[in-house]
Amino acid sequence: MTARRPNCRRLKSAELTDPQQLRNYQPAPNSHQGRVVIVTGAGDGIGQAVALALARQGATVGLLGRTLRKLERSYDQIVKTGGPKPALLPFNLETAGAAEYDSLHDALDREFGRVDGLAHIAGILGALSPIDHYDVPTWCKVLHVNLTAAFLLTRTLLPLLRRSGDASIVFTSSGVARRGRAYWGAYSVSKFGTEGLMQVLAHESEGTRIRANSLNPGPVRTAMRLQAFPAEDRNRLVEPAAVTAPYLFLLGPEGRGINGMTFDCQPPPPAAQA
Ligand code: NDP
Repeated sequence: MTARRPNCRRLKSAELTDPQQLRNYQPAPNSHQGRVVIVTGAGDGIGQAVALALARQGATVGLLGRTLRKLERSYDQIVKTGGPKPALLPFNLETAGAAEYDSLHDALDREFGRVDGLAHIAGILGALSPIDHYDVPTWCKVLHVNLTAAFLLTRTLLPLLRRSGDASIVFTSSGVARRGRAYWGAYSVSKFGTEGLMQVLAHESEGTRIRANSLNPGPVRTAMRLQAFPAEDRNRLVEPAAVTAPYLFLLGPEGRGINGMTFDCQPPPPAAQA
């Protein structure tokens, strides 16, 4: 059986045929200078690493996340290392309603007038549990934070993304987004939905200046990974900074023309390569 690809596959950069190129990407100095990029989950884990890496490349980063104290730490690190002054965007993706989304849009419109990049990285694991015991409120919360909030935020920011000459939206997927795995319940389903949202958006964006793609970070040493695998040897996991290159590539000018694709930030484990 051959794998089916989304209709919206648009890999115009003929040279990008090997995902390894994406993983080894080394941007030129100030490659993202002048770009305004919103990063969700920017206070911790992969989101924080991507936010810091973008700022090092000269991007002005909107640090969006739930815990202000954590966002301030990311802010301080960016300022300390000479990056462009970021924007603090405390925002709870679980509870935000229409008024909060409207205020976020208006604040970004006032401050920047446009958005060039949106990296959806915030997420929650929920519970690992068989379907017949899966807690219903947890199911709804995970679907909302991981999937519905990404839809709402994208919808809110599309008018500002349309003002960019080259806008990139990157969703964060997972290994359990392509093949369901027992006990991963709402998390796995939310990531299948994330891939679907990306594909629909990419198809709708064909021929426009907006592109949408998704990345599967692979196993990374973060709080979420610890929650999912408390007994594993953490020394065998890569740090969040090790998976930022593909985000930088897709969010920057060199990702132009790539739309509707999904990539892995790490090579598959040896067993899967066989
Ligand atoms: P972390 O738990 O380290 O970070 C998650 C981030 O999401 C935190 O910054 C957290 O903010 C934010 N967040 C959670 N809930 C909300 C909310 N309601 N509103 C706003 N922000 C929220 O996770 P990772 O860095 O590991 O995960 C990042 C992404 O990567 C996720 O989408 C995850 O599914 C995906 N992923 C991770 C893998 C891994 O091995 N780590 C593997 C595959 C995919 P706060 O800290 O303030 O709560």
